[in-house]
Amino acid sequence: MPEGDTVYRAARRLHDALAGATLLKTDFRVPRFATTDLSGRRVEEVAARGKHIFFRLSGGVSIHSHFKMDGSWHLYRDGERWHRPSWQARAVITVEDWIAVAFLMPVLEVFPTVQEAQILSRLGPDPLAADWDPREAQRRLTADPGRTVSAAILDQTTIAGLGNVYRCEICFLTGLDPWTPVASIAAPAQVVDLAKRLMFANKDRATRITTGDPRRGHALWVYGRAGKPCRRCRTKIRRREADTSPDGERLTFWCPSCQPSHPGGRVED
Ligand SMILES: [Zn+2]
Repeated sequence: MPEGDTVYRAARRLHDALAGATLLKTDFRVPRFATTDLSGRRVEEVAARGKHIFFRLSGGVSIHSHFKMDGSWHLYRDGERWHRPSWQARAVITVEDWIAVAFLMPVLEVFPTVQEAQILSRLGPDPLAADWDPREAQRRLTADPGRTVSAAILDQTTIAGLGNVYRCEICFLTGLDPWTPVASIAAPAQVVDLAKRLMFANKDRATRITTGDPRRGHALWVYGRAGKPCRRCRTKIRRREADTSPDGERLTFWCPSCQPSHPGGRVED
């Protein structure tokens, strides 16, 4: 699933290609907006917030999309072959120089720009936004004392944009067992600071790196490394599937030695 840095980069590419252009044609292939025609409107900007992308158009209209697990936006030149089958397209937006295509986008809607506030008001501070507020992020992280650090990090109303990779990597880098109740985090500011620094460091590159080592297979500490030796202590990295989790983000990876279990937290199996 794309995390905030991926979404940020996608929005910036779309903004660079479309901002200032007039829509020549729009084709929404979702039932609710099948007859919506936004041609003639100008693209004012394309912006990301957490994992959401908003196309803000002249006349106070927005196109809102959310990738969830499988969605993606592609940019093509006129006549260029698409990299995915056309039946997967959910929106085709044409300007003079570019065609933007949304594939398998589970959330795609058109509404007055003022309605964005309803979505934005539900999101926590965004580490990649100009108005990033670390104190507010920390307040939200620790607001519900019994909640696990894992659950708090994945909750988009805590910090917008963090997903499963960052959840696992932040817990490792702070030495926290993922099932630690937030009330027991000794330095919650460190969690918030790491979220910001990791997202910011990765916002301009295609490979997500938390180790500082860009080599293939070396970029992450624990995510996706079940059964492999911890890069710090050589203990085998463990993996556990959650019973329930939003958006199918089920797998937790951690080093049981670098992230010792917290009393009252995880029940050992
Ligand atoms: Zn370790």
